[in-house]
Amino acid sequence: MELLDQIKNGGIIGAGGAGFPTHAKLAGEAEFILMNGAECEPLLRVDQQLMEFMPDEIIQGFNAAGKIVKAKRAIIGIKKKHGRVIEILRERIEALGLGEYIFIGELPDIYPAGDEQVLVHELTGRVVPEAGIPIMVGCVVVNSETALNIYRAMQGEAVTKTYVTLAGDIPNRLTLKVPVGTPITDVLKLSGIENFEEYAVIDGGPMMGPVMHTIGGYMTKKQKGFVILKKSHPLIKKKTASMAQAVRVNRGACEQCRLCTDLCPRYLLGHNMQPHKMMRAMTYNFGEGEGQKIAQLCCQCGLCEFFSCPAGLFPKQANMFFKAKQLENKDKYERKQEVFSARECREYRLVPSKRLIARLGLKDFDKAAPFEKIELNPEVVKISLRQHVGAPAEPIVKAGDRVETGQMIGKVPENALGAPIHASITGKIEEVDQDFITIRRN
Ligand code: SF4
Ligand code: SF4
Repeated sequence: MELLDQIKNGGIIGAGGAGFPTHAKLAGEAEFILMNGAECEPLLRVDQQLMEFMPDEIIQGFNAAGKIVKAKRAIIGIKKKHGRVIEILRERIEALGLGEYIFIGELPDIYPAGDEQVLVHELTGRVVPEAGIPIMVGCVVVNSETALNIYRAMQGEAVTKTYVTLAGDIPNRLTLKVPVGTPITDVLKLSGIENFEEYAVIDGGPMMGPVMHTIGGYMTKKQKGFVILKKSHPLIKKKTASMAQAVRVNRGACEQCRLCTDLCPRYLLGHNMQPHKMMRAMTYNFGEGEGQKIAQLCCQCGLCEFFSCPAGLFPKQANMFFKAKQLENKDKYERKQEVFSARECREYRLVPSKRLIARLGLKDFDKAAPFEKIELNPEVVKISLRQHVGAPAEPIVKAGDRVETGQMIGKVPENALGAPIHASITGKIEEVDQDFITIRRN
């Protein structure tokens, strides 16, 4: 079987992002293949440890991805501060005879170094056009966990587990491997907290991850970590403000200092993203307008909202407010040029992660979350049919069927973008509904 088919059949999707199916990403040709090992979200510790403990598998998976897209050069993006991991990777790249093809690209310790467009620029000097994707400048980006999953697909293994960090205001900070479909509460309890009444849980990193309305869900392939904080923590208070609250506060207090724009990573790449203009439009109640379509250029990194704004306002929410209206009206941003270059001031306006962590009030929790070989053996798993970008998977099993770990239980619908799903435990199908396939271990 062709490797691309193995990747598709293995159900590989971008680990940590929106969950774009990897086989579709690797379907074309590219000059560069880049590995995103930046892990710029504060407190998360998955990628850096995967690269440390499974370098051979990751390098080989990455190499295979590069060959699929016929890339001339492969670059692993990793922050310079991870010196020991870089040393290991360099040594293993040489030992595997790939020193002529795979290179290490050392990244500054800034946020958001892992934003795909920032990563492309840091590693190649190129700038992805506004509202564009990396392939437009000859690049394909895969995450380090995705590279690991590609290696496993080469051995005939499907994605049935995901790696997550538990971080925040908790007694046990750790990183572990979890079967897809495991109840999230089973995972969260490993943090050492039994009663979550006083706590809020962020699904993902503190900058981009949403605060969970309920912790009663089930693990998906794209989860990267949970940040657990007291409900009274200022970050939680800010993240849980409603759109109506954000609009009200924004209207009263924006002093148009432009700091949100001056530090915006997309603006610094030469794009026209200017959140202060969205704030102005909101404050003065401007209606629809061509200029407001720039809201669609926001990558939702949150820097303007959680770091830049001296008045503690909600410029990202202002973008989201206008963007939602435009999407509803199918009013798409049209870029006026194809070639972009980073603004000259960019290098002086990069935000160091340490300063960001301090500003977020997370300094006390910025600690190691070591890998632990904990075997989670849930009695029941609920595997979502919608873990990825594209059409939901179509169940190919029914209640009462016996399934083995790794067996495909949902396929990609005919002629659709999507990814299959697989049993993460051996057992009996208990239920199939429009959202989940439930398996009970026996
Ligand atoms: S939102 Fe904040 S940073 Fe942006 S212009 Fe207004 S006051 Fe300045
Ligand atoms: S969230 Fe703010 S800083 Fe980030 S891209 Fe959007 S406007 Fe720029």
